[in-house]
Amino acid sequence: MTLAPYACDPERSRGRIRSEPRAPTRNAFQRDRDRIVHSTAFRRLVYKTQVFLNHEGDLFRTRLTHSIEVAQLGRSIARALALNEDLVEAIALAHDLGHTPFGHAGQDALNECMRAHGGFEHNLQSLRVVDELEERYPEHDGLNLSFETREGILKHCSRRNAELLEAREPGGVGRRFLDGTQPGLEAQLCNLADEIAYNAHDIDDGVRSGLLQLEQLRDVPLFEDFRQQVLGQHPQLQGRRLLYESIRRMLSAQVYDVIDATRAALEDAQPVDADAARRCPPLVRFSEAMRDQSTALKRFLFANLYRHAQVIDTTQQAQQVVRELFAVYLESPAEMQTGFATRAQHGGDAAARAVADYIAGMTDRFAAREHERLTGQRLWLVHAGTVDRAVE
Ligand code: MG
Repeated sequence: MTLAPYACDPERSRGRIRSEPRAPTRNAFQRDRDRIVHSTAFRRLVYKTQVFLNHEGDLFRTRLTHSIEVAQLGRSIARALALNEDLVEAIALAHDLGHTPFGHAGQDALNECMRAHGGFEHNLQSLRVVDELEERYPEHDGLNLSFETREGILKHCSRRNAELLEAREPGGVGRRFLDGTQPGLEAQLCNLADEIAYNAHDIDDGVRSGLLQLEQLRDVPLFEDFRQQVLGQHPQLQGRRLLYESIRRMLSAQVYDVIDATRAALEDAQPVDADAARRCPPLVRFSEAMRDQSTALKRFLFANLYRHAQVIDTTQQAQQVVRELFAVYLESPAEMQTGFATRAQHGGDAAARAVADYIAGMTDRFAAREHERLTGQRLWLVHAGTVDRAVE
């Protein structure tokens, strides 16, 4: 398939930190994607929470299935816009590699623990995973991915961390946060595909868990309009099929909206190549009307699902686990795996970072087991099974 002039072209990649000979049959971004799929951090995503904890039910999204959904949506849109599908897939599959166990709760707690030691940002952690923490190659740490994939993985970054990155890698992935430019269009697309994916699947998981009621969604036009449309055509439809069909239409509408709005933005801006697109305002976008609707849905999910008493309760336990693990490992580094224990030997910020890397890499269940081993407390099974009521 022919790429648009503003797509990232693997033949014109800014390259890898350590240069490598070309692969005989795969381009640079296909190779990045393959390295990500074979990484240890990628396999761990299956046991990491998206919103619901991993033990709460077998049908809820995990970070792995979420990442695959983001890749699917991203690739569909990329194909329609003649952007680079391979790059979109690589970024989408890697975008959550740095997430801690227990979703945002774990991340907030780890950030708190790291406050005096440079903080913890999950996007930066995803970059650390692919740049430094994966141990697969004889000659170097990390996966040695292409600039464009790494640029997409680093979705957000504080100014302070961008300065540190820039000092290590001048003109590298930290630069755009200092000079206020955008990442390539494929990276912008992954951001939006991420939002479309979680908005949709959180409705699905929320309703199937029993924490959200379909009636509550009446106030959310992005969902309700399609539910009405489905009921207009299938008046008898209810339960799971009504939910899935409404979500399916909602997803399609957002995908087509992004394609149309982005085409119009590209038409206006006329970027001559990928770098010209980086200098424009964000070009991969929703229409204004869809942006408002998506924001309203996000607000609804925040108020009604992410702040649901039962989610908050498990959130607090998750934070306790992360905080207590952090304290124990900092005090007794030998309780960690050898490589991390060695890094933590001399105390200070380096020790705290080693502990944060170790905890961030954990799956939910490994963190829970370690917490029980080290503190003798078992917190995790309080809600096991209680949110697993599927919609009939
Ligand atoms: Mg995500």
